[in-house]
Amino acid sequence: MSRLQQTGAVRHRTATVIGALLAIAAMFFGAVGASAAPAHATAATIGSAPATASTSLSGKTFVIGTDTTFAPFEFRDAGGDLTGIDMDIIQEIAKKQGFAVEIKSLGFNAALQALSSNQVDGVIAGMSITEPRKQIYDFSDPYFESGVQMAVAKSNSDIKGYEDLKGKTVTAKTGSEGETFAKSIADKYGFTVKSLDQSATMYELVKSGNAVAVFDDYPVLAYGISQNNGLKAVTEKEKGGSYGFAVNKGQNPELLQAFNTGLGELKSTGKYQEILDKYLKDPTQATPSSFWDLLVNSFPALMKGLGNTVLVTAISFAIAMLIGLFMGFLKISTSVLLRGIATTFVSVFRGTPLLVWAFFFYFGVPQLTGQPIDIWVAGVLTLSLNSGAYITEIVRGSIQSVDPGQLEASRSLGLGYAKSMQKVVVPQAFKIMTPSLINQLIIMLKDSSLLLAIGFAELLYQGQQIYAGNFRITETLLIVAVLYFVVIMLLTKLANVADKRFNK
Ligand code: GLN
Repeated sequence: MSRLQQTGAVRHRTATVIGALLAIAAMFFGAVGASAAPAHATAATIGSAPATASTSLSGKTFVIGTDTTFAPFEFRDAGGDLTGIDMDIIQEIAKKQGFAVEIKSLGFNAALQALSSNQVDGVIAGMSITEPRKQIYDFSDPYFESGVQMAVAKSNSDIKGYEDLKGKTVTAKTGSEGETFAKSIADKYGFTVKSLDQSATMYELVKSGNAVAVFDDYPVLAYGISQNNGLKAVTEKEKGGSYGFAVNKGQNPELLQAFNTGLGELKSTGKYQEILDKYLKDPTQATPSSFWDLLVNSFPALMKGLGNTVLVTAISFAIAMLIGLFMGFLKISTSVLLRGIATTFVSVFRGTPLLVWAFFFYFGVPQLTGQPIDIWVAGVLTLSLNSGAYITEIVRGSIQSVDPGQLEASRSLGLGYAKSMQKVVVPQAFKIMTPSLINQLIIMLKDSSLLLAIGFAELLYQGQQIYAGNFRITETLLIVAVLYFVVIMLLTKLANVADKRFNK
């Protein structure tokens, strides 16, 4: 992409975010029926356009949620692209049935939440068809038989079966069948279940000895073990559900239908077996590579993440400044009502965790309104409202710390209140507030990493995606930390130079 195109893309994204924010504001104030587009219309298209436009779905793009890593069903290849049985199946069906898909690698539990809130049109994530899930989702025909199994650390583990788990901690993935199974026998065998969101961290917990065993689907454990992930399976597999593709109950029936038709075709043409063989018979062996290789391979994805981190912070900070200035002036107003509005705003957003708002905007609001919300909009709203609250206080504090004599002197020279504020008080207040604003900007940049919980592709999210596939957690996190550090150092330097310039 050329620089010009990139700038264009950034500008376009900024415009989209601002446009969507306005739409949401309108929605909140009930002015108009909000017009956030449904998930499938906003999605960018991945994959080639269908050769044959054979069905009514032709030209449509569906957003499909999936797990971060659930190899061999979904995982990242060496180049950082999503691959695996599920990915091949959905892409193949989409091609044959004439629709396009945009894959969102959210993590298993987050993908299910996203489906419930219509943030995605469907989920394919080695997802077992279970009775409780059938109450809320519609499933395709089953495409893979699975079952839960227990694995322990390969070396120095004396756990041989469930009986040895007494008083110990085991791990399983949040919201998964493995977790449900582990919890169902936890009391009987006297162990505790610690749930985590990702396979990579689950396995790491077992290898580090912080949990003695992991409950996961047997094909996934088997694949990991064949890749030398440091585990070994010790129990027979439990009878478990088969995997199915899911849509929200009563929604996207034509997508489900197309999936079933496509799956039938894949099976009858032998393509389905070919896909299974590709991953199960001849799994690509993870070759141990050097730190340098890891750095080189992960750099493009991390840079993309860093770009998103910086962009979301920049947009959010600009909006937070506007909110903060506006609310800050309300806070020093003489009207009780205006002061009350600003005080309530600050108490609400300073008094609640950022993550709660990220979940609320991304998963909660769509459930309330029935309209999906763009992840950039949810991210920017979360960061800017939270920072807006802190900036309000910074603005108020700075204005109030300008010597009252300044205002009096200015007024006695014949300037009105507004002019005195504008010409005398506010410029001095700005000098006082810049260091605090720089602080707030840095805090926001770091806080933006929390948006990974809703699947926003910022820097730490990209890091997670990488170590989820190669299990090199420590080194990947180290690279991520260094990147954050460098950017924050540069930002601080830049801000200090600007501060000196403006405040000479
Ligand atoms: N098959 C399991 C389930 O549906 C786990 C899926 C996963 O971890 N991606 O609960």
